[in-house]
Amino acid sequence: MKAWRFYGFNDLRMDEVSPPSCKPGHVVVKVLCVQPSVTEAQLARGIRTLAYDRIKVRLEREAPVQLFGHEFCAEVVEIGQGVSKVKVGDRVAARAKLPCGQCSLCLTDRSNLCRKGPVIGFDLPGCFSELALLPEIALVKVHERISHSEAAGLQSLSDSVAAVETAGIGIGDVVAILGQGSMGLECMQVARNCGAGKIITVDVRDEACAKSLELGAEYSINASHNDPVVAIRDLTDGNGADVVFECAGGSPKQGLSGNRSLGQAIDAVRSGGKIIGVSWFGEPLSLDIDILRERSLRYLFPDISTSEHLEHTVRLVASGRIKLQPMITHVLQGLESVPEAFEITANKGKYKAICPAQVML
Ligand SMILES: [Zn+2]
Repeated sequence: MKAWRFYGFNDLRMDEVSPPSCKPGHVVVKVLCVQPSVTEAQLARGIRTLAYDRIKVRLEREAPVQLFGHEFCAEVVEIGQGVSKVKVGDRVAARAKLPCGQCSLCLTDRSNLCRKGPVIGFDLPGCFSELALLPEIALVKVHERISHSEAAGLQSLSDSVAAVETAGIGIGDVVAILGQGSMGLECMQVARNCGAGKIITVDVRDEACAKSLELGAEYSINASHNDPVVAIRDLTDGNGADVVFECAGGSPKQGLSGNRSLGQAIDAVRSGGKIIGVSWFGEPLSLDIDILRERSLRYLFPDISTSEHLEHTVRLVASGRIKLQPMITHVLQGLESVPEAFEITANKGKYKAICPAQVML
C-alpha cells in the first residue's frame, strides 16, 4: 500500500510499504479522509511544540517512519479477534491519546488519568496511508448524518469538549475565547451548548472573526485593530470574563500569538475566574504567578479526551448542535496531496484556512 513516511523534519516521502496485518483487539481500516493537526503540521517542520523531543528521537532512531494522522475518518475492512464494538463496513474516527490498559489507574476504572498508553500518529502509525491498523479502544462509530469531512474533525472536537468540561461553565457565564482557529471555534460552539451567556471571541484575522459570528459568538474582536482586553472589560462592566479560553498561543512563525494571548487572558478574566489553557507553547514561559495568586485566578488545563467525550462529540455533530462543515475551508483530493495539506495547515493565515486542510482518498 502507499504510505507517507518521514525521513527527517521537512522530509516526507510517499513509499510503497507492506499493508498492516490485523491483530487481536485491533481493526484494519481503509482511510477515507485525513488531515494533519496544527501540532503535526508544526512538528513536520521541526518547530518546537507538544512532543517535539519525542518525535526528534524517533526520527533519529527509526527513520523512515510513518508519523501523524490521528484526525481521520476511515472504514473498517477487517476486525481482529475479540473486537465487538465495530464491524466491517462501519465508518470510524478515533481519540488520539490512549490508556495503557495495564497500570493501577487503568485496572481501577480510572484510565482517563493514565498517561502511559500510546498516542496514535506519535507512537503508532496514523492515517497518512491507504490502510491503517488501529486499536478498538480508540474508535468511535461515525453517525450516518456525519460526512467523511466532518468526521475527520471529531478528534479535535472531542478535545474541545473535554476543555469545556474542564471549564465547568455556569449558566449565563461570560465566556471569552482568544483565537478562533479550529479549537477556538469548537470551544466557542461547545460553550454555547453548555449554558454560556455572553460569548466574546478574539482573533487577528477578519475571516476567523466573521466565521465566529456566523457560528454563534455574540461579539468578535479583531485584535489587530482593537485591544481585546479593553474590549472584553468594556463588555463586562469592567470586571472581565468569568471564563477565558486561551487558544491562540504558540509559534509566531505559524501566525500564532507567542505568549501574548496568555497575558491577555490573565488581564481579561475577572478575579476568581478561570483561564483554560488550550494552546501549546513549545517552550518554557515566564509568568508572574503572584498576579494569579493575588487575583485568585484558576489557570486550568483540559482533561484528556475519553471515549465518553468522543461519543458525545458524535452526538453533538449528528444532532446539528455543533457545526463543523462551515469551518472546513480546504479539501484536497488524493493521498499525493498530503504535503500540500501540511503546508496549508502550517500556514493557515496565508491560505485563509480555518480548520486544517483535509485530504480525501
Ligand atoms: Zn494505564
